[in-house]
Amino acid sequence: MTGPHAVTGATRVAGVIGDPVAHSSSPALHNAGYRALGLDYVYVAFPVPAGRGGDAVRAVPALGLAGLNVTMPHKADAARACDDLSDDAGTLGVANTVVPRDGGRVYGDSTDGPGFVAALRDDGVDPCGRGVVVIGAGGAARAIVLALGRAGARVTVAARRRDACEAAAALAPGARAIGLDDLGAAVRAVDVVVNATPIGMRGEPPPFDPACLRPEHVVLDTVYHPAETPLLAAARSAGVAVAANGLGMLVHQAALAFRLMTGVDAPLDAMRAAVTDGG
Ligand code: NAP
Repeated sequence: MTGPHAVTGATRVAGVIGDPVAHSSSPALHNAGYRALGLDYVYVAFPVPAGRGGDAVRAVPALGLAGLNVTMPHKADAARACDDLSDDAGTLGVANTVVPRDGGRVYGDSTDGPGFVAALRDDGVDPCGRGVVVIGAGGAARAIVLALGRAGARVTVAARRRDACEAAAALAPGARAIGLDDLGAAVRAVDVVVNATPIGMRGEPPPFDPACLRPEHVVLDTVYHPAETPLLAAARSAGVAVAANGLGMLVHQAALAFRLMTGVDAPLDAMRAAVTDGG
């Protein structure tokens, strides 16, 4: 199916809730996936104000929705509104994907961490046994730390707030929590550097001396706007083995949500094309 999708009474509806939500890439990703597979689904953005995320999640079975993705500021409210949670969503206390289950129940999952690790593997990097520094201790960092710990990585979390940093490090076995002052030394000691802060979205430099980077490093930025952050530019200048932005994580977390909502494997190439070259 290549032309516009005719929405009929039989079309299944999925969507994303957020505030704001108009900028979300999720409609482009999921609708590209439906088109590629000829699925009679449509995916829309629902602007849901802060405080109403739980109501939206509870409405999923009543409206017969195929599922919802959940973005700021509703991820914690969504998890609380679910009847059942995946281990990841339960551990993190957030859900980015909710789907209906039998008996009017709602199941919540968090696909960001597994999406990150899948993107890492796409780049040819197996995190098992690798030393990884994760910069940041917010929602994205916590999901990534949990997934990296499960994948067998040796994780160090670097963040400016000590309590948040320690809480994030507690998500991976044996993980260390350090302050940003110690980040340069930590970068020198590991194989993989992950930025999970918004640093770089407005051109800010990384919070460590880029001279710490060497060609063996793998550098991942969760930011994908701009496509090349100052961290990634510095990594390329250092000739690192892999320097990748957050588009891979974005596509893979969406692909995992797509599978939960439709029951079929996501067409990764079509979804990737939708956010890299306009689809
Ligand atoms: P969040 O929950 O607000 O956490 C942001 C983290 O970054 C916090 O630890 C925060 O520290 C830290 N931080 C912010 N500005 C900083 C600075 N100038 N210096 C040092 N630390 C700073 O946000 P999030 O949901 O984790 O998202 C973080 C980034 O990940 C976003 O910008 C987004 O681009 C990216 N992301 C990408 C994907 C993807 O699919 N590619 C998915 C989710 C998120 P404080 O607590 O001290 O403020």
